[in-house]
This record gives sequence, C-alpha cells and structure tokens, in this order.
Amino acid sequence: MEYDATDSGAGMHTSQPSGMPDDDHDELFGLDELRTGPEPRRSTGPLFRDSEQARRMLSVREIHAEPGAASSSRGRQILARFPDADVVSTDSHWRIPELHGNKGNAERWVRIKSTVLVLGEKKTLTVRPNGRSADWIAPGAANGCAMACAYCYVPRRKGYANPITVFTNVDRIVARLARHVAGQGPKSEPNQCDPSAWVYDIGENNDCSVDALISENTADLVNAFARWPTAKASFATKFVNPDLLLLEPRGRTRVRFSVMPPDDSRLLDIRTSPVEHRIAAAADFLDAGYEVHFNLSPVVIRPGWERSWAELLRHMDDVLPQRVKEQAAAEVIMLTHNRDLHEVNLAWHPRAEDAIWRPDLQQAKRSENGSWNVRYRNAVKAATVEAVRGLVDTHAPWLTIRYAF
Ligand code: SF4
Repeated sequence: MEYDATDSGAGMHTSQPSGMPDDDHDELFGLDELRTGPEPRRSTGPLFRDSEQARRMLSVREIHAEPGAASSSRGRQILARFPDADVVSTDSHWRIPELHGNKGNAERWVRIKSTVLVLGEKKTLTVRPNGRSADWIAPGAANGCAMACAYCYVPRRKGYANPITVFTNVDRIVARLARHVAGQGPKSEPNQCDPSAWVYDIGENNDCSVDALISENTADLVNAFARWPTAKASFATKFVNPDLLLLEPRGRTRVRFSVMPPDDSRLLDIRTSPVEHRIAAAADFLDAGYEVHFNLSPVVIRPGWERSWAELLRHMDDVLPQRVKEQAAAEVIMLTHNRDLHEVNLAWHPRAEDAIWRPDLQQAKRSENGSWNVRYRNAVKAATVEAVRGLVDTHAPWLTIRYAF
C-alpha cells in the first residue's frame, strides 16, 4: 500500500465514462483477451507462492466468502488453491465481527491475518482523483493486509485484525479502468506523477505483492495496463514477491518499494520483507519490465534519524545499479499516526509508540470519519522535509523527489 497521510475515505469522486460502447472498449483495451485469463507466465518452474517462505506469510485455513464471490470464476480458483481451508459463508465482507476489530492480542491478529481470507465482490467501482502518488486511485482489487505495520492506516475501518479481503470481480474492476483510461485520452501535460502516462494507484488499501500469493488479481491488473499505452499502474509495496517477475508489465506498471532505515523498519514494519531485500530486488524488477521507484516513508523523527537516513541513502547509492538510478524517483512521506491506533498499539507494541507517538512534535486533526489523525506540526514537518531533501541531494543525488508530503 501507499503510506499516505490522508484519510483514505476522503475525496470520493465518480469520473465520467467515455461514452464508447463497451465492445469497442473491449477491443481497444484488450478486455476480450483478459477475459480468457491472464497471459501465460514466462516460466513453468516452481512458484514462490508455493514456497515455505510464502507459507510463513500466508497459510490459509479459513475462508469467509460471500456466495457470489465463492461461485465466481476467480473465487473458485482461490478456493481450489486452498483446498484444506474451511469455507464459511458470509452475507457481507464488511460485517464479520469475529474477524474484524481490535479485540484480543497481537498474536491473535497476526494469526487471523496469516490464516484467514475473505472473498467478496466490490460493489462501488469508483476511480478517485489523487494527484500525489498517482493521478487516480483505482478501485482496489483487495483490502486488508497480512503484514502489521504499527502506523498502518488500512485497519482504521475494519480494525487491526483485518485479514485480506480479495475482490473476486476483478474483471469488472479492469473494465471500469478501461473505460476510465479511454475517457481520459492521452495525457497532454506532464506532471510530477508521470511525464506522459496517467498513473493509477492499484494498491491503496492493500499490498499487491502479497495479494499475488493468493490469486491472479495483481497479474490481471499488470497485464491490463501493459496493453494501455496512455496509462500506468502503480503500487507501493513492502514485500518482495519474485512471482511478479514472471509477468510482462512492458513498462506500464510502477513498483514503489517503500524504504526506511532498517532499525526503524525492524521496530515498525512487522512481517514485511527486510528493507535491504526490497532495495536488492529493484534491479530484478526493472529487468522484468517494471518501472521502479521508491517511497521514502514514513519518515519518523527520533534521536539520530538524520544519520540513519543518510546511511540508508548511501546504501542505496552503493548497491543500486546505474540503470535503476537513471529511472528512479521517490516520494517522501512523513509519518501520520492516529489516536485510536496509538491506544491499540500500546497494548501490544508499546516500544513502537515511543518512536511514533510524539505529542511534543505532533498535532491532532479530526478526520472526516471522526477519528483523530496525528501528524508532525507544520514547522517541524517543513524543516524535516527540507532536511530529507538535503540528505538526498548529498547522498543520492540521482534520486528525483517527485513530491514530499
Ligand atoms: S504493508 Fe504495512 S503499511 Fe502497507 S498495508 Fe500492509 S500493514 Fe499496512
């Protein structure tokens, strides 16, 4: 997911359909081809998602499924992939009280996140304007995450124990995006998101790399964007999934590896791939046809933070090959926290709160859904952003900062 400082529910917007008949869109954007299933993978060797390492992240034993989702083609594929899982019927993926919420301890949440799946159908297929990480936020093909970062905003609506919900009607999501892409036409003015392509964030409330352990939803989206010459998919990730290297993105998907100093990551990024692995994977993803950017996020102010970020940037400068540097760009995103999440974290990970709950530096603002979001005070934030820009200039001058927030 993108580490974003905003309340994810804000700014809802329905974009205009293009007015073209669906069949024309299907031909123009390759939907006919998509409906026959994802393109063949380049290799028929063993997949990472079947490895022991992948099973440590996700070992599904229980699947809560809406009936329509379970009987769909994607739903049947997922159920077949986890044949030993108990399947429980549910009316709505939004209302499963025994799964969602903050009750219980962290061990229980992690157990739920790593052993339970929810299958649902996405009802509202809204494309929302963004203007920071991407031009548009695509309707997500999943929400929830198997990882457990201490600052994550994704659990705000379902609670900390939210397992991944996979939306099985990805074909409708792709069709919606096809219409939206066609409606935009070519991008006429470059902007910081991209000089020539309309960028769609496909992972606002999920991590697409982990989702690819479960189903072909991520592959379907990557394959679809590979055929759309005016658009580009983009997703942030904290997990290295080598199976994504087998797809054919043809330069139309941007992977944004989130990085932060390894000490911060070990404290805050629970269950993610080590930062060094994310950086080491960049060249492989570029060679497989992805564009590779970085999210310098979240920036957490703590004693010694500038020294740690300088070391991280020097490490990137040392290990990244020139071809990665030439196309890389970055977002800088300051930590945003939340009062409710702070209370939750105190019960299971108080050491994280020592770093991310800093009333001496932070201010609270009530969000649209009534909860209190907490961010660094304006002057503190401005000074820190400037300091990060200075560190990048000094230690990784090849890294263009697309925006800092
Ligand atoms: S990787 Fe971390 S920040 Fe991203 S969705 Fe998962 S838990 Fe949240």
